[in-house]
Amino acid sequence: VLQTNGIAFYSYKDQLIFAKDEILKDNGTPYTVFTPYSRRWKEKLKSTTIEDFQIEKHKASFYKYKPQPLPTLKDIGFNDCNLTWQAPALQNDIAINYNTTRDYPAMPGTTRLSVHLRFGTISIRKLVKQVMVLNEVLLNELIWREFYQMILWHFPQVINTSFKKEYDAILWRNKPEEFKHWCNGTTGYPIVDAGMRELNATGFMHNRVRMITASFLTKHLLIDWRMGEAYFAEKLMDYDLAANNGGWQWAAGCGCDAAPYFRIFNPYLQTEKFDKALQYINKWVPELNSLQYPAPIVAHTLARERCLKAYKLALNR
Ligand code: FAD
Repeated sequence: VLQTNGIAFYSYKDQLIFAKDEILKDNGTPYTVFTPYSRRWKEKLKSTTIEDFQIEKHKASFYKYKPQPLPTLKDIGFNDCNLTWQAPALQNDIAINYNTTRDYPAMPGTTRLSVHLRFGTISIRKLVKQVMVLNEVLLNELIWREFYQMILWHFPQVINTSFKKEYDAILWRNKPEEFKHWCNGTTGYPIVDAGMRELNATGFMHNRVRMITASFLTKHLLIDWRMGEAYFAEKLMDYDLAANNGGWQWAAGCGCDAAPYFRIFNPYLQTEKFDKALQYINKWVPELNSLQYPAPIVAHTLARERCLKAYKLALNR
């Protein structure tokens, strides 16, 4: 439409530090493994000045409108509550301690900035400038975000198919009843159920638990990663096609730089390591020690063997 009206259209990079074709291998092809990509990313950062966008000088050109007073939450049917808007910011102590706290879902050990990065309510340029001098482990996570965006750009087929084609031969069981238990957090695996209940109640799930629940769905229940991906897409406030697809393909083992297929998270060991005092689980599964809490829908050892068999069959290994 713009073209037919003789109006020029310009696009500008905003969401990422390095986009599309800015980080490529020497031979001009895209990276498909994270570590060498991140190495090149960091090298390039050293020789790049991250500029702030000066918007003040353009203020006069902004579309002018008279804002109507916003309705209050009460006006639109919510109970009176104390919600206030706070400009998002990264606290230095979270960044500094990130590598020791980030895996424990009961701790406030991660930035919780995903929703802001997703919607552009925090600047990636500002964040990277802060993080690069504070914590390299956290910087790596911001690079994972750019890595998956880059993968989606170069390999858009990942939206529907496995990055590693041969994984599309897996015979998924896709049992609707089991899927329902997973969605509702009633699998009888406390750490999985806690995660799904956190997601259903808040629209957020801690990264460690995203990995555990995704692994459980694809490997313990042999349910197609695309079903889990779609459920997360519906529920996550920070839903981002590139990161969600990347995370799911990583967990299912079919992604570009994925966990090997025979690495099957043991939910009990994960709990022992990352929620030993059951703080996170008790918060979301208060009926844990009562008769109301369901028995596991599948035994871990059986599920593990069944999964290995199904994957081996598909991959002819
Ligand atoms: P922090 O640990 O503080 O990390 C800082 C930022 O780095 C995050 O806000 C995020 O923008 C980025 N980041 C961190 N880890 C990753 C990662 N593995 N991949 C890409 N970016 C990352 N993240 C999303 O933003 N949207 C999604 O839809 C999404 N779906 C996921 C699905 C699965 C199955 C898995 C395993 C991970 C998914 N992630 C997704 C990545 C990660 O779980 C979240 O970014 C993180 O939990 C958000 O919490 P935080 O802001 O406290 O993260």
